[in-house]
Amino acid sequence: MPDFQRWLLNAANSGHALPPDEFLWSPAKHFLFRKCRRAWFFRHYLAQGGWNEFSADPAMHAYLLKYLSTADAWAASAAEEALGGALLDIAALSGEDRSAELTRAFQLRVSSQLIRARDDLAGEEYLTDPKLTSFTELYYDNGEYGSVSDLLSVIQNRFADFFRLWEDSGLPDELASVDPLDWRLPPEYRTFPYAGQQISLRPWIYCVRRKAVTAWTVRFAFHSGETLDYRTAEEEYGLPERVFAAWCAKKYPEFEVRVRKILFTPDGLFSRLILPTPVSEDFVILSAEAMLEEVNRPDGLRSENFPRLENPEDCGECRFRELCAVEPAPAEKTEE
Ligand code: SF4
Repeated sequence: MPDFQRWLLNAANSGHALPPDEFLWSPAKHFLFRKCRRAWFFRHYLAQGGWNEFSADPAMHAYLLKYLSTADAWAASAAEEALGGALLDIAALSGEDRSAELTRAFQLRVSSQLIRARDDLAGEEYLTDPKLTSFTELYYDNGEYGSVSDLLSVIQNRFADFFRLWEDSGLPDELASVDPLDWRLPPEYRTFPYAGQQISLRPWIYCVRRKAVTAWTVRFAFHSGETLDYRTAEEEYGLPERVFAAWCAKKYPEFEVRVRKILFTPDGLFSRLILPTPVSEDFVILSAEAMLEEVNRPDGLRSENFPRLENPEDCGECRFRELCAVEPAPAEKTEE
């Protein structure tokens, strides 16, 4: 029987170091590595191959946890996907109705996403197919929501509030005024070479017109739990936008780059236009080098090499906490 964990360990022990130009770097990988290398290992290495039912239990476990979403992350991703689809829906329309039609199509698509989530969650099918909708809050039963229905009703109500504010936000007019030919709607994840690494880029809705690239992102921020902020270097602020700017600098040299960040919180719907500068090559190189050092360890990639965080309170609501508790870890240092 194939054992993907053994395969993974053997691959890491092959004696062939992974060269930087084959290493895939991303802002999310950078932040997870800074936060907890053990979680980084679970997500980006142990979970590899976990899609296969013949892989080892820890790999399947990591794969399942890797795909857990949160209510905020799910809503943001549903909003971005629905908005991208709605822009396609109105591509052939012209005239004054475009902005009202955009909102209508956006609402319909969000509604379809909620229905699909309800179907996915009804039989907990994500337990056998982790790419289907799942939520950390339900999996860990953290008491925030009593049931699938509770959670989905909360999200649905948030979207109802979102759309109430959306109509007067100026955003529908801004988006509907873009010529359909200027839109570049999200494909799957794309990668590009930069600073000697391969960088994976999150797909965003963006348009290209008059020597400018403008992207739109949506974030929901309702969760009130404490989360530590791991950003310290200046370039870590707005890192995804800076990576987008680096990609644009290659693809659309000399174009201005703008990112419209739409943020929905209990205090309202906010939107802010920023002009990100490309992330520096040095920043990416240093970040990737630190990860490659772990990847190319002579004794391989395995749980035993990655300690748990010293202070369990810093684990917050880590999606890997169930796996972390049972996977081997280095012996804890004892006080002299
Ligand atoms: S539970 Fe804590 S130590 Fe374990 S992987 Fe998550 S953040 Fe790291």
